[in-house]
Amino acid sequence: MNNLADIAAALKRAESVVVCGHVMPDGDSLGSVLALGLTLESMGKKVTMAGPDPSPAIYDFLPGLDKYRVGLPSDIGFDTLVILDCSAPERLGPGFQGLLSGETDIIILDHHAGSSCFGKYRYVDPAAAAVGEIIYDLIIEMGLEINRDVAVCLYTAIVTDTGSFQYDSTTPGTHRRIANLMEIGVPASQINIRIYEEKPRAVFQLLCSALSTLTTSSCGKVSWMTVTRETLKKSGAVDEHAEGLVNYAKSIRGVEIGILFREIEEGSYKLSFRSKDAIDVNKLAELFGGGGHPHASGCTVQGDLNKIIDQVVFAALSAIRGIGR
Ligand code: 5GP
Ligand code: MN
Repeated sequence: MNNLADIAAALKRAESVVVCGHVMPDGDSLGSVLALGLTLESMGKKVTMAGPDPSPAIYDFLPGLDKYRVGLPSDIGFDTLVILDCSAPERLGPGFQGLLSGETDIIILDHHAGSSCFGKYRYVDPAAAAVGEIIYDLIIEMGLEINRDVAVCLYTAIVTDTGSFQYDSTTPGTHRRIANLMEIGVPASQINIRIYEEKPRAVFQLLCSALSTLTTSSCGKVSWMTVTRETLKKSGAVDEHAEGLVNYAKSIRGVEIGILFREIEEGSYKLSFRSKDAIDVNKLAELFGGGGHPHASGCTVQGDLNKIIDQVVFAALSAIRGIGR
């Protein structure tokens, strides 16, 4: 494990850099890639900002997004690869995983506890509420100013990964960084409107359908919803519109674990777990080959939906019993 000074020195030496984030990018992944990419560009480096999947439309306002590319050309030359917000190589998707065996310097910046070891340089801080906080600190470590565009990207990374500062990952340090970003000129309320209050109607059609599947265990502590390809189609929705649905399952009084089962292709389901308080859903997701944070995690599972639900709900109830609740 390196410190931020090592990372700053490695980046200052780099001439040609690829900065990438994870599959199905979220606000932290995208905001962090763009904030670091724009900063490295301002230092005169050749920079490619990339990821395995397209950016959800709600992030269209992000400065630098026009430079974000999905996938990489095979002949791209670079000396340094920076990987953000990825706890395991699988989170890069098959194309970007192929870059790990190359000759280039790899720098990992992450905030997942138990982030698996890969890369020459690694800085993993599970106390950081978002990778955006780490990028903020790294820019300061490099002795650079955060400009307004970069500040917008960092604000977006942090506001989304903290659930608008609601999660217990939010610290006084989070608010101090946000205060400084607002002083630089981040239009916080406008960004919040773009992210949270400009949703297409299809999101609410999907919400209606998903809520109609809401089921709660007899003890009242585990609640779940399902979204199939059929549901998405009928709602006129696309995958990114399911973002945040799982919170409805979690937000019911007495519920400790909320789960969303979302069909990504026939027989393949993306599971999202959210918890309150003491339940560590990172461990729950790990049982099914995934991971994440103590209160927000996920995995992908293949098989019959009803069987998957039975197994996963059983495991969730066992996790709750395990800590005597
Ligand atoms: P979401 O439910 O929003 O897709 O994911 C919540 C968090 O869980 C993500 O920020 C990420 O940290 C983690 N996560 C989601 N899916 C996976 C997965 O398939 N594997 C791993 N290791 N982590 C995941
Ligand atoms: Mn993150």
